[in-house]
Amino acid sequence: MIDECSDFHGLFGLPDQGVRAICTTRWHRPASGRIRSKNDQDFNLAAHVGDDPRRVLSNPALLLRRFNLPAEPVWLDQVHGRNIHKVVVPKKSASLPVADGATTRLHHQVLAVLTADCLPLVLATLDGAQVAAVHVGWRGLASGIIRAAVDCFNGAPLAAWIGPGIGPCHFEVGPELKENFAADLFSANPVSNRLFLDLPQAAERDLTTAGVSKIKTSGLCTVCSIEDFYSYRQEGKTGRFATLVWREAV
Ligand SMILES: [Zn+2]
Repeated sequence: MIDECSDFHGLFGLPDQGVRAICTTRWHRPASGRIRSKNDQDFNLAAHVGDDPRRVLSNPALLLRRFNLPAEPVWLDQVHGRNIHKVVVPKKSASLPVADGATTRLHHQVLAVLTADCLPLVLATLDGAQVAAVHVGWRGLASGIIRAAVDCFNGAPLAAWIGPGIGPCHFEVGPELKENFAADLFSANPVSNRLFLDLPQAAERDLTTAGVSKIKTSGLCTVCSIEDFYSYRQEGKTGRFATLVWREAV
């Protein structure tokens, strides 16, 4: 069982550039020294997926405490587009920005994306001066969201972390997607003739094309790791886990 993914930090050397990134799981209590129960496994952070509204609304506050966040995250109205919201002042707007990514140079400004099969992507400049969190599904990829996100950094050298999402082992797609992605990103089962797309590989390729050389992939498939992560494909109506990034003051 996984409490949280934070192997993003392995992308940076020492001294620490002050970038923190965390990917939550279904678990809202640390595992240390306690027996896990079903009650601990309900850390849905999205309000739009039909979970108990009292529970869903209380989890963002729980999130702040659980990970000792410096501020409430900037949540987004994610629409599978390519808009990246630039957070330039630490101001809370009344409505959620319609965007599938956010970027900032501010300290202690927590950025967040919610996923359950789509890929969460974290970007940061190697000096830690700017960070971004991006929601990357196949539609976003096809419309160029990775290039849009990288362009927000004005050519600065970047580190990228691709978090847990549906893997090529489980992402069955229709042949209509072939016009959106290179042929070698697909694999076909020779018996059933079912077609699978390698979403993490597609994202990695777009990052490389955009000039990002320091890339780490979690290698975690949300369906294979269903005990720890939410999977929309596997479960239908389900929760969302959050990927967060922010700058500490160093
Ligand atoms: Zn899988």
